[in-house]
Amino acid sequence: MVSASCKCGYKTSMALGGGFDDFTERNAFPYLCEACSELVVLNAMDPEPRCNQCQGAAVTPYSDPSMFLGQPLHHTVYEWHEHPNSSILRAPSAEAFADDIIQMERGDTDDSRAQFEAILSDLELDLNGLRAELVANYEATWEKVRAGEYYTLYDCAYPCPKCEQRTLHFKSAGCWD
Ligand SMILES: [Zn+2]
Ligand SMILES: [Zn+2]
Repeated sequence: MVSASCKCGYKTSMALGGGFDDFTERNAFPYLCEACSELVVLNAMDPEPRCNQCQGAAVTPYSDPSMFLGQPLHHTVYEWHEHPNSSILRAPSAEAFADDIIQMERGDTDDSRAQFEAILSDLELDLNGLRAELVANYEATWEKVRAGEYYTLYDCAYPCPKCEQRTLHFKSAGCWD
């Protein structure tokens, strides 16, 4: 369950994703229908989704990059299957992300450093190799975020169907199924 609310007073809640039985055919996801000025929940697995109220085709999924790009993203509010890692979303750059992860994995004690070195040699990686993998992971994730490939809602401001301002926020409201 996810709720959406805007400071104009608009408020709604919705069940997203798919149940256990139908998750290969159904991915309920919020769309903005411009004709209805309404947030509608449609099946994102439908290649040509239509508004369930006006049957119009002018519907934009809230996963579309135009809905959220250009704002800081800190974490996901809702995700379906594959989704971006919050440390990648929050990191100011690929290098900062790689440094953070390496710092965290290496730790501050002699023991943790020795363990870190052992893991690296098990993986047949040196520090530069690990850094290159982390940077590549960061770049690939952001490429997918920018392309709108994740069915994810973030903790940022989205266009409101009623007042049309970018002041709509999604919030997780527990699980169903
Ligand atoms: Zn409509
Ligand atoms: Zn509003």
